[in-house]
Amino acid sequence: MRFWLYFSGMAIFILVLLWLLQIVFINSFYQTIKIRQTEEIGRTVSASFGTPNFEGTVLRESFRQNASVQVYNEEGILVFPLNPLDYIFQPMVDKGDFERYFRPLTQENTKEFTYVSPYEGTENSAILYVTYLGEEAGHKFYLSVSSILDPVDSTVEILKNQLVIISIISLILAFVLSYFLSRRLAKPLSNMAKTARQLGRGDYDVTFDTRGYTEVHDLAQTLNYATGELTKTIELRKDLIANVSHDLKTPLTLIKSYGEMIRDISGDLPELRERHIQTILEEADYLTGFVNDLLDLSRVESGISALELEEVDLEALTRETLSRFAHLEEEGYEFVIHLKGSPMAICDASKIRQVIYNFISNGVNYSHNQKRLDIHITEEEDGVALSVQDYGIGISQEHLEGIWERYYRASANYKRSDVGTGLGLSICKNILELHGFPYGVNSVEGEGSTFYFVATKANPQ
Ligand code: ADP
Repeated sequence: MRFWLYFSGMAIFILVLLWLLQIVFINSFYQTIKIRQTEEIGRTVSASFGTPNFEGTVLRESFRQNASVQVYNEEGILVFPLNPLDYIFQPMVDKGDFERYFRPLTQENTKEFTYVSPYEGTENSAILYVTYLGEEAGHKFYLSVSSILDPVDSTVEILKNQLVIISIISLILAFVLSYFLSRRLAKPLSNMAKTARQLGRGDYDVTFDTRGYTEVHDLAQTLNYATGELTKTIELRKDLIANVSHDLKTPLTLIKSYGEMIRDISGDLPELRERHIQTILEEADYLTGFVNDLLDLSRVESGISALELEEVDLEALTRETLSRFAHLEEEGYEFVIHLKGSPMAICDASKIRQVIYNFISNGVNYSHNQKRLDIHITEEEDGVALSVQDYGIGISQEHLEGIWERYYRASANYKRSDVGTGLGLSICKNILELHGFPYGVNSVEGEGSTFYFVATKANPQ
């Protein structure tokens, strides 16, 4: 509505302006222009006074602008241009006129005058420009340029008629066009508002209509993109809650059922009771680990845990971490550290310890019978690379990208008790990205995987 009003208002404004200029002010415009032209002729002619082509200039200018250009001497006798007869009769201007128009030039010491006065006997006005040319051969010479101001009434009448037609047509056009334009512009916007309200009510299946002008189209596309991202986040959150509650419920159920078994069956059977208690303890440990992982993840993801950067010996850190896997060595696991160059890096020790821990524990979890892990710490040109290589099941190409997402599991027949919480690599990714360290994985299915990151070097040379 407002767009329509503005548009029509502008059309009316332009028309009024046109009327004013064309009809109301046309007389004064015309007069101003004509006066300027007359004065210009006068100046051109007087500038050529005293030059050999003076007479030529007088004739040319009077023809060009249809003005009468005349030169008088100080007695008011016409000097140029003359008809043959004029040589005998020596035409003079009226004494009174000469006094009236030329005298002020000498008296007031002014260079030029322009008069506009009614032309005798007609409705027209005349413009008279007079100027003093100069002295030659003992005579003073004056120039007069006169032209007639034709009445513009008839022209105005024609213009008026035309303008009436133009006004009517353009007003109708403005009203109709702006009505349709505003509809085309406003309609998609109000549709979008409707869709957005739907989205706000929690209906994530909406699509914004992208028809309309470029900007409207862009807006709709952006909104569609935002809706897509929102939907993804919401799906992810749903998945996360489902996974978390599943992973919390399973050990709790186990703990409860083993507790019941001890109460009802194995309470008096020390051996069986011992096994059941062991299971309960393992599940409780798992729960603790899981909750800790969740907390870690939410901490690094929200970015509240700031990095405490310091100089860290990655080899020492790895040995320290490996000590937590010492019990596995009894089962035949072998962990070999290969150091090349300096292991000194700049990082947050406790966070990077967590990354190394996760890499190693994954290596163990997915090793199966190949109970060997090679840990390479190599000083490179742009950092210290740490990699954990296992010879286990490996990861297929299609899963390589996804494993860094939380709760992503490469194998469909995943058994919780075998492996971790499904959050480990996601925590690693967050920590490494927080540090700005390059990281990744190389893996061949069936042959093993190498997880690595490159830390900033301490005192780079
Ligand atoms: P999880 O607790 O399931 O190990 P992670 O985030 O640590 O969760 O790892 C995500 C997935 O990546 C794992 O479920 C597994 O499928 C795959 N993965 C991680 N490390 C390895 C590895 N060393 N070898 C083979 N697959 C691995």
